[in-house]
Amino acid sequence: MEANILGVNNVTVQFGGIIALSDVSLEVTPGTIHAVIGPNGAGKSTLLNVISGIYSATKGDVSFEGERLSGLAGHEINAKGVARTFQNTELFKEMTALENVKVGLDRFHACGVINSALHTKQWKKSDAEADEAARELLKLVGLGDDETSSAGILPFGKQRRLEIARALATRPKLLLLDEPAAGLRAAEVEDLIAILRELKTNQGLTILIIDHVMALVMAISDRISVLNFGHKIADGAPKEIRESAEVIKAYLGE
Ligand code: ADP
Ligand code: MG
Repeated sequence: MEANILGVNNVTVQFGGIIALSDVSLEVTPGTIHAVIGPNGAGKSTLLNVISGIYSATKGDVSFEGERLSGLAGHEINAKGVARTFQNTELFKEMTALENVKVGLDRFHACGVINSALHTKQWKKSDAEADEAARELLKLVGLGDDETSSAGILPFGKQRRLEIARALATRPKLLLLDEPAAGLRAAEVEDLIAILRELKTNQGLTILIIDHVMALVMAISDRISVLNFGHKIADGAPKEIRESAEVIKAYLGE
């Protein structure tokens, strides 16, 4: 089997008396879209928070490209090539779409200075070049005509895509998405499906996505892991997951 890009290895996360994740393991294959589904409170966001360094695991560890991430700060994990979006939109609403993406570029630049001469050389560029790079990313998420709009006045579906563009500005290999389709209309979900496929197929990105919108999850996922009350109860191809009695009972039937 191909080496994984991300390994979650027997991770337990405890908050006081609450066990948010219990001995969860999963492996993400490079170049795939891997979804995590499960009812509210199952531990999905906690999983992304552990991977991205916001929480630390009580037990177990996370590896990225064979290297342990445990103990690293969020910006260090980002510098290694892991970017994320949040369950609730966290844009700078007064700033334009272009400026929001440039925030991501700046973060990348800052990390590059510390961690890699190569990155520094690549991105220590003029403002015009930064604009151009940000513009490319806006185009990639279908916001090519919205660069001068304030983020706060964009329709919700576009705000969610802008967050993806900002995460992409840090040039990740692995993109973590926390419910990007929540609250989207059907046409916006279709747009998102097309964008995520493009990112996987033409940009070579690996994506770990949490979502409740089954039309999206079933359409784009190569593999699906199911969490329930902090436990991983299933892991398989979309077809297997759709037909699993345990999954249907815990989640899909609701
Ligand atoms: P999901 O994203 O699947 O809805 P979460 O990962 O947000 O679930 O939450 C899993 C469990 O962990 C819930 O019981 C939640 O209340 C708890 N939890 C998550 N974050 C914290 C925290 N920072 N402090 C205390 N409890 C938390
Ligand atoms: Mg959540």
